[in-house]
Amino acid sequence: MLNINDLSIHYQSRQAINPVIRHLSFQLQKGEALAILGPSGCGKSTLINALAGSLPIESGTIEYTAGEQSSPLDPKLHKIGLIPQNFGLLPWKTVKENCLLPLKIRKEYHKSRGTDDINQIYEALNIHNILDKYPNELSGGQLQRTAIARAFLLKPDLLLMDEPFSALDAITREEARELFLKVWANRRPTTILVTHSIEEALYLGTIIYVMAAQGGDINYQMKNPYFGEIDPEHTDYLTTKQLLREQLIT
Ligand code: ADP
Ligand code: MG
Repeated sequence: MLNINDLSIHYQSRQAINPVIRHLSFQLQKGEALAILGPSGCGKSTLINALAGSLPIESGTIEYTAGEQSSPLDPKLHKIGLIPQNFGLLPWKTVKENCLLPLKIRKEYHKSRGTDDINQIYEALNIHNILDKYPNELSGGQLQRTAIARAFLLKPDLLLMDEPFSALDAITREEARELFLKVWANRRPTTILVTHSIEEALYLGTIIYVMAAQGGDINYQMKNPYFGEIDPEHTDYLTTKQLLREQLIT
């Protein structure tokens, strides 16, 4: 379980302080995928970067609980899988080397080496034929699927995704989302994804929060009955979509 309590994050420049997240608290149970919807500039990337440990927090706590053990979330202690907006692949490493890098950094490669698990992920994400290619030889969809594979290979305690599919064209995006969901549903790592896309939140979030334009307040939350549904056209779905749209602009 992830427990975020009274979290505040700001940016400071010489001229001013920009308080982006103020007193944010929420809990996330193991195996859930929380989709945080919010308008551009509301602090989604800020939150993801803070959770990933790459941005300092001003105050508050981020606790990770597994069984009886509870401790501050720490990238050295916990396995945090990150799928950043720009995919974050190293251009001088092949697809395979990129995928295995987080495991090697954590000295966990020997544990998974030669297991079917690694190959299953490559195949599920349809990158098994491009393992020796370099990022600049790949399409957007292939880059995306590589970044997803890299995150799952780590068997993350927490999976973080920042607008993961927004750089792709519509058809590639649908395909990548579907493959992602298949792999996700199989393993169910506790996940937080941030997005400005209502469709994406409804497709990938078991729980949906709507973040306010300023201050990082959660204005609305719901359990998502449409998780994993492709193109639902029933009225309830459309009503929910409309409701989220209204929450997003107020
Ligand atoms: P989102 O991802 O929701 O679009 P961000 O988290 O990137 O929003 O940004 C939230 C706010 O923080 C914005 O007002 C943005 O201008 C500001 N901001 C983001 N990154 C920095 C930074 N490195 N330094 C100063 N201000 C920043
Ligand atoms: Mg962002």
